[in-house]
Amino acid sequence: MNTQKLMGYDPQIQEAITKELQRQEQGLEMIPSENFVSLAVLEALGSVLTNKYSEGYIGKRYYGGCEYIDVIEGLAIERAKQLFGAEHVNVQPLSGAPMNIAVYFGLLEPGDTILGMDLSHGGHLTHGHPVTYMAKIFNFIRYKTNAKGKIDLDNLRDMAIEHKPKMILVGYSAYSREIEYEKIKAIADEVGAITMADVAHIGGLIAGKQMDNPVPIFDVVTTTTHKTLRGPRGGMIMCKEKFAKQIDKAVFPGLQGGPHENNIAAKAVAFKEALEPAFEEYAKQIKTNAKILERKFNEFGYTLCFGGTDNHLLLVDVFSSKGVTGKQAQNALDIAGITLNKNMIPDDPRSPMDPSGIRFGTPALTTRGMKEIEMEIIADWINEAIENWQDNTKLASIKSNVIELTKKFPLYPELS
Ligand SMILES: *Cc1c(COP(=O)(O)O)cnc(C)c1O
Repeated sequence: MNTQKLMGYDPQIQEAITKELQRQEQGLEMIPSENFVSLAVLEALGSVLTNKYSEGYIGKRYYGGCEYIDVIEGLAIERAKQLFGAEHVNVQPLSGAPMNIAVYFGLLEPGDTILGMDLSHGGHLTHGHPVTYMAKIFNFIRYKTNAKGKIDLDNLRDMAIEHKPKMILVGYSAYSREIEYEKIKAIADEVGAITMADVAHIGGLIAGKQMDNPVPIFDVVTTTTHKTLRGPRGGMIMCKEKFAKQIDKAVFPGLQGGPHENNIAAKAVAFKEALEPAFEEYAKQIKTNAKILERKFNEFGYTLCFGGTDNHLLLVDVFSSKGVTGKQAQNALDIAGITLNKNMIPDDPRSPMDPSGIRFGTPALTTRGMKEIEMEIIADWINEAIENWQDNTKLASIKSNVIELTKKFPLYPELS
């Protein structure tokens, strides 16, 4: 086997990694689904566990030599249970999309109806977007948010009674409000539907006790581990004991083969971190920082979708507010060193490739240690960049300010 280190053996890849590290260090990362993991998480990810096959579950593996793998997967599961109060946990899903697919196949039959949120109101691709294969297999129907930006529970109940879904699905990637799990569970009970919450975005805020936890209430809860939960890229399914067998069989052998145990070890490390009191402080600061952005963007005269935020993200209608499209705003901010994404707003009259809105959030900046004062400054820069989206000199000057600011919040000094 090759005995050289990456630097000596493959300078092309090494150079791209180094440049990516620099990009992460010198920019303001405001994509709300992104975060920065600890060195301990990185170490577990890059460990020899990647060499091992371990199809099956603890004590019931198809391969020999799994005694340490079982310890690792057991720790990941125990810590996740403690973090969320879950009855059963499967930590094997390779990412968010396969975790949701496993739940659909585990608990439903092809053709069954799933009632989920309209995608332009904050739902996710994996909740039956027409471009996904799941939309060909299951019958997805949609509820929406009301004019006040809250989930329209009357509409949800009417649709549930009319369509008798097998599953009611909540959990979103662009919705910024708290979710009334108890009320939705009551509607599901009325029509005999399974309840599923996909808390991919807010898993860390729930673990950090800053948002309501659906795990005790809902039948199944899925989350990614790489967003606010600040672990490696991956997914996890939590469910009531009565669904445990169906969920486990759906993940393996239904959908996946060998689990990625390096990734599961990194999940375990991230869960240990999330159990520390400091993680609650982190989750609280994420929300405090988002509230500063909310106030500033209100002051600047933007329309905030859903009326503002209860979590880590904001969806802002830049087109109706400033006559700048989501794509124009995203491009201008890229030049200014601030990374976020264009996004559809509820019932967006514009196209998905150039929608009316931008979506941004605070988890990654908060990990770097940025607080209220920095949020005030950054909000000013974002507004300036949008208002001057065609002025490259202005955008370049914002970028040099961005680089100066990031120097005060070193990211991975050990790696540079
Ligand atoms: C991010 C996300 C997913 C999918 O996660 P991937 O890891 O990108 O596959 C699923 N559901 C929601 C609500 C998400 O925000």
